[in-house]
Amino acid sequence: MRRKKRASALGSLLIILMLIGGTYGAYKVLNSPAFETNRPIIKMPVERFWNSHHPFEIQISDDTGLKKVLAYLSNGKERVKIADIDLKKAPKNYSLQIKYPKIGFIDNSDNLILTVIAHDISKWHFFKGNNTIKKSRLKVDTQKPDVFSLITSYGITRGGSALAIFKATDKNLKELYIETNFGKKFEPVPFYKEGYYAVLLAWPINEKRFRAKIIAKDEAGNVSKARLGFFLKSRKYRISYLQAKDRFINGKIADLAEDEPELTANLSPTEKLKFINETYRTKNDSLIKEVTSKVDHNRITSFNIQPFYPLKNGKVVGSFGDHRYYWYKEKENVISESYHLGIDLASVRMDDIIISNPGIVVFANYNGIYGNNLIVYHGLGLYTVYGHCSTLLKKRGDLVEAGEVAAKTGATGLALGDHLHFSTMVQGIFVRPAEWMDSKWLQANIIDVIQNAKKMIDK
Ligand SMILES: [Zn+2]
Repeated sequence: MRRKKRASALGSLLIILMLIGGTYGAYKVLNSPAFETNRPIIKMPVERFWNSHHPFEIQISDDTGLKKVLAYLSNGKERVKIADIDLKKAPKNYSLQIKYPKIGFIDNSDNLILTVIAHDISKWHFFKGNNTIKKSRLKVDTQKPDVFSLITSYGITRGGSALAIFKATDKNLKELYIETNFGKKFEPVPFYKEGYYAVLLAWPINEKRFRAKIIAKDEAGNVSKARLGFFLKSRKYRISYLQAKDRFINGKIADLAEDEPELTANLSPTEKLKFINETYRTKNDSLIKEVTSKVDHNRITSFNIQPFYPLKNGKVVGSFGDHRYYWYKEKENVISESYHLGIDLASVRMDDIIISNPGIVVFANYNGIYGNNLIVYHGLGLYTVYGHCSTLLKKRGDLVEAGEVAAKTGATGLALGDHLHFSTMVQGIFVRPAEWMDSKWLQANIIDVIQNAKKMIDK
């Protein structure tokens, strides 16, 4: 009796265990990756431009693996299958290439619907797996932007500036800039009438060659290029050897070194000169370049620039592009070198600094070797820079009228006597001030070019 009871109890336990085991088994099977319920992910935008010549890719992924990918293109009337791919290795990620069908549509349309379907390897849905269907509107644009150079300044000098006026049109224009051989991209400004642009260009003093091309890109990836031709004038700049006297090293240099105490604490006096004249100068120049790189994109209809003449009776005491070597004690002992990227003008102490053209003050602050530094924007990417000032009479954001006095000369920063350091900048590049101070150069290279461009556009 007892034994029988025990046997039946054991049987019940077995049945219970089997039931639990079975449920657990089913649970385990249904929760295994083979039965997962996550759909594949297809990354594609609701809408995009396409020039239809260049294939593009769509990223598809699934957490367990992809089994099949299909794609169709439709123009509303006809539908063409463009992909039907069985993925034997069940990858988790797949990039599907979308190509225009070899046998295209009978009816051409600017609008196509792309449908992409992805299946995963899950056995869910009675072994059919999970699937995702996604649609995208493709706006087909095969038309390249229309670009041509209208007129330019006749030439450009190494270290100097030039103007170009051109046309660029496209119904989906996305990017427009001037590409150069030295990596700088110049931004054009809308000019006069719809579809026309003006751009001031600069040939950096340290670049041997100058090449410029208009680049226009549309939303669909169509690109047009047009070369801007200039007569290139090379130019030699002065090389000068200057004696670094102890008075200078222990005076101005030591004072400026205190601007960067951590970096100069352990330097010898001559190492400090090298640091101030090279490392610190580069930092101060970078600030000027950054401030003067910006271009406003308001349409301009004229650019009636007058010659800059910042000091009434200023004598040129230092010229643009000077390659200056500093020697200490003996002429052979060169301890530092730098380029002088402006001109120095001197007259009387604390003389009035006149801003010859209207503009807006974009910087009015201390800037290392430039001392108290004023920077004014005049439009079309042109800036003027005034260094070593004793007093700044304007602050950032102030408007300046033509002929207004905006600062007083001084000897702040790396200056021995009272003088003005005057730089001109085109989109962040130091250019020859002599051109912007010369009425003949301005007439021929800027004012006449603009007048002639307007005549051509109006014709
Ligand atoms: Zn200077």
